[in-house]
Amino acid sequence: MTIDQIKDFIKQSIEKNIKWKKISIVGGEPLIHENIFEIINLILDYKNHFSRKTKIYLVTNGILEEKLNKIPEDIIIINSNKKTRVSKFISFNIAPIDLKQYKNKDFRNACSILKYCGMGLNMYGYYPCAVAGGIDRVFKMNMARKEIPEKNDLMLNELNLFCRLCGHFKKHDNAISCEMSKTWEEAYKKFRQS
Ligand code: SF4
Repeated sequence: MTIDQIKDFIKQSIEKNIKWKKISIVGGEPLIHENIFEIINLILDYKNHFSRKTKIYLVTNGILEEKLNKIPEDIIIINSNKKTRVSKFISFNIAPIDLKQYKNKDFRNACSILKYCGMGLNMYGYYPCAVAGGIDRVFKMNMARKEIPEKNDLMLNELNLFCRLCGHFKKHDNAISCEMSKTWEEAYKKFRQS
């Protein structure tokens, strides 16, 4: 994301009088962003001048220690401390719609990530969750909203489209291999070609 996009997020938040409960700076790995300190300062400024109770988190793998040590004290750091190349993960790339038992589910129900992590914002705009933004990047559905959705707007249409593709919708299974289902294989193939 660019600095201007972060400024626009803050401008919209203030104009709509939104005092966020929490703002999490996530990635990929946020510390590799060349303007990460500027981004942090803009969000801190929003907190200090408009929304004192907002908690700001930075979610990192902890590898860039030199940068990590310079993060201001007001930021809550969530460090996954990745030390090896082998980690447990979810079979994210197994789309529920490719599995018989999930075919007729109501995908608008989403998963608990929506409840605990909330809405996502990336370089394209606003999504019901951050993961949906990543899915859209590969599937190119162009579903990003340019404005922060209204409070009563549950983004059900978006959830219906993204959750059917997202491995998080399934029961967590702690996968140990990089399996992919048909829908994702085809999507990555098209993504690479484009
Ligand atoms: S897109 Fe995935 S992570 Fe986001 S709410 Fe749906 S199932 Fe959960």
